[in-house]
Amino acid sequence: MHNVVIIGSGCAGNTAAIYTGRAGLAPLVVKGREAGGQLSLTTEVENFPGFPEGIQGPELVENMKKQAERFGAVYRDGNVLAADLSKRPFRLNIEGEEIETRTLIIASGARARWLDLPSEQKLIGHGVSSCATCDGFFYRDKQIMVVGGGDSAMEEANFLTRFGRNVALVHRRDSFRASKIMLDRAKANPKIEFIMNTAIDEVYDLEQNLVTGVKLRNLVTGETSRRDVDGLFIAIGHIPNTQVFEGQLDLDKDGYIVSHGGARTNIHGVFHAGDVQDRTYRQAITASGAGCMAAIEVERLLEAEGH
Ligand code: NAP
Repeated sequence: MHNVVIIGSGCAGNTAAIYTGRAGLAPLVVKGREAGGQLSLTTEVENFPGFPEGIQGPELVENMKKQAERFGAVYRDGNVLAADLSKRPFRLNIEGEEIETRTLIIASGARARWLDLPSEQKLIGHGVSSCATCDGFFYRDKQIMVVGGGDSAMEEANFLTRFGRNVALVHRRDSFRASKIMLDRAKANPKIEFIMNTAIDEVYDLEQNLVTGVKLRNLVTGETSRRDVDGLFIAIGHIPNTQVFEGQLDLDKDGYIVSHGGARTNIHGVFHAGDVQDRTYRQAITASGAGCMAAIEVERLLEAEGH
């Protein structure tokens, strides 16, 4: 029987592990499909406080893991395949192994939706990004392209005009899902060019291991063309990793965990941390803060119950 199991090993899960570890609770961290979370897909992180020279994303999460292990956290590979949250202790199936836990912190994150082109996937971190806040700074005076037609795409395009020489926004339809205010703001920005009814068929250049351009296809005429680009930002939405909790936890229409105050979910003893609940901020530092909150909740609950 575990005191606390933490699902996910990104910033939220690792921070929860540091805090529950230091509280003597010997947390078990289930790493999940993408060990290290979204930071493991980025290169340089310049906005995490405490690193004046910046730090590589994978190094930052690895440091957090080591810090948690120093306090007794145990990490295991694998993914949660099923969960029974109907009564305590909660039961989890991790790759076929059944475990029981008094409390649970869900820090399973959200994954960016990608175009799923092989060339796009190989160039993530080398010019392809899903986070303007994280990576925009690297494209000062460069040619930037944003893909998507929702609020995220508008927000990222606007934000990226602070850095780029120009920003081309590519959308597959001729109308937008974005709210009027966000769209109007983007349209009023002289640095943003709109390319409508257009898909990206390929990202160049795999040989250089660097983004140099894309192959565009007009979805009305079928015409294809090449366009030079230095940075490609995919802003076509996120998918929270909550599928195994469907029907048990309160989720919103897009699958994000609904917060019941602080780090609490609708189930007593189950807490949330990070992007699995947060669709607004999605930063490493906010995820870490949320992991800390969830850990403190767990500590207080177990103490009140005499464990
Ligand atoms: P979204 O609203 O779901 O929009 C996703 C966009 O990506 C859509 O335009 C969609 O095209 C496009 N898309 C999806 N899959 C694609 C694919 N495979 N290839 C090309 N394009 C694809 O997602 P979001 O913009 O991330 O926003 C999510 C939620 O957060 C929304 O509720 C939004 O209002 C909110 N949000 C708010 C703010 C703000 O207010 N500051 C900022 C960001 C996000 P179609 O339109 O053709 O489906």
